[in-house]
Amino acid sequence: MPKAFICHSCGERVEFSPEKRPCEVLSGWLTVSHWKGLGAVEQYNFCSFTCLKRWADAQVPKIPEVFLKAFERKRDKKRKATRGKIQP
Ligand SMILES: [Zn+2]
Repeated sequence: MPKAFICHSCGERVEFSPEKRPCEVLSGWLTVSHWKGLGAVEQYNFCSFTCLKRWADAQVPKIPEVFLKAFERKRDKKRKATRGKIQP
């Protein structure tokens, strides 16, 4: 059975047989590892930067505050603007 990669954002599917190397078939794709804790890693595949960005943007409100603090200086203005929209 061939392995398949599915874009986590747009659903595009790329199959490859065992003879083909993933690096050939997945040229241009991006894989994100989400480290969720001890022994828990989730991987997401994206066919393009556009798809990665769309997905990442959708995740932003769910990112814990602790994580955001690491970027506080860089993103301060942007975050405050976003926050105003989300909170009632
Ligand atoms: Zn895609």
